[in-house]
Amino acid sequence: MLRGMSVFEYTSTISAREGAMNPPRKPILVIGGGIAGMTAALEAAEVGHRVILVEKEPSLGGRVVRSYRYFPKMCPPTCGFEINTRRVRLNPRIDVHTLSTVEEISGEAGAFRATIGTLPRYVTPGNALDDSVASSLSSERPNDFNLGMDTTKPLYLQHEAAFPHEYVLDRESLSAEDTKTLKDVAPPGAIDFDMTESRIKVDVGSIIVATGWRPYDPTALDHLGYGRCANVITNVMMERLAAHDGPTAGEILRPLDGKSPENVAFVQCAGSRDENHLSYCSAVCCTASLKQIRYLREKVEGARATMFYIDIRTIGRLESFYTDLLDDPTITFTKGKVAAIDNAPENGKLVLDVEDTIMGQNLHAEFDLVVLATGIVPNAHDAGLPGVLKTDEHGFIDGSTDVEGIFVAGCAKRPCDVARSTKDATGAALKAIQYVNTGA
Ligand code: SF4
Repeated sequence: MLRGMSVFEYTSTISAREGAMNPPRKPILVIGGGIAGMTAALEAAEVGHRVILVEKEPSLGGRVVRSYRYFPKMCPPTCGFEINTRRVRLNPRIDVHTLSTVEEISGEAGAFRATIGTLPRYVTPGNALDDSVASSLSSERPNDFNLGMDTTKPLYLQHEAAFPHEYVLDRESLSAEDTKTLKDVAPPGAIDFDMTESRIKVDVGSIIVATGWRPYDPTALDHLGYGRCANVITNVMMERLAAHDGPTAGEILRPLDGKSPENVAFVQCAGSRDENHLSYCSAVCCTASLKQIRYLREKVEGARATMFYIDIRTIGRLESFYTDLLDDPTITFTKGKVAAIDNAPENGKLVLDVEDTIMGQNLHAEFDLVVLATGIVPNAHDAGLPGVLKTDEHGFIDGSTDVEGIFVAGCAKRPCDVARSTKDATGAALKAIQYVNTGA
């Protein structure tokens, strides 16, 4: 049931004097609240433009905020994220719509009209909910922030630095008993069980698409054991295992038995550069694995790592991120594509079959844990964006777009790292501003 339609009216705390000096211009719509979308929104808003930022998840941050560390400096993404969320929170020109998607776009550059659909959060703004309310519930749901490796209560904060810092209620996971409990223990007015999906229409001058990426589905890689072998995980799961707010509180542990792995295999190009899966290079997964080998050295004393690769692709100045590891006797680099991974029946280890193409020999090697470097799949293709945007055969939005006034940033365009995404976003913001200013 829909709450009704309306054309969105902006109110803000922009001063009357500033308003008089700058005649009203249409806002810029930014689709996607990850690092590229947040950057584009801030760049435009901080030079005086109104921005409508639309994010499908309950909070901003996208993929980057799920990482344990950035490369190459190995700093936690939460530092930059907190700075960005503070900038968003303090900027009256940015209007954030979470749990929301853009369902329709019509019009033309300088005069687009977009329909934004928003799912119910079931909690009211400014409520006094806290973790004592959530922990009084007995139901559990898979924690999608931790890629299903643990669970949350149906009333949950997406993560500790979530912005907006608001709980969300997953009603489908809420048992009848918990519904009653919630009515009893939640502060008055904090939960609104009658909240429904809503839609608004907004008039905007230009649009930035920053819909980001998701990992390639590892269940499509049956030969690499994901799903069949509990100790085969993906690179994005490794990020959450290493994070202090992840499912193991920052310890790298084997899913099967909770033990520290002594010997870990990193399998590159898991799905990428393969005509049967993703024919392109995902650009960042070599560097991500080199980063995760550092996690292993830092967190598991004495652990050994082997990286199986076709080519090691570290871009530009990131080359030393690879070469700095070459003299470490605990790390082995083996050129060869892994053909098969299976459980070793006798000892719970994993067996990898791979041809070492430099030594010219077939290896049959055992490991405690395998990390698949799964590739980047663009969300743009199935983000529900209305048919104004053309994607290539992989789902990336080619170049800019075929529509004047709509620009693309980050992994919606092609696989790229955080640094390139933010540069992209800055460029897209500049172009979007030109359309809002001049309509040309
Ligand atoms: Fe393969 Fe490395 Fe390219 Fe990723 S970045 S697809 S692991 S070559």
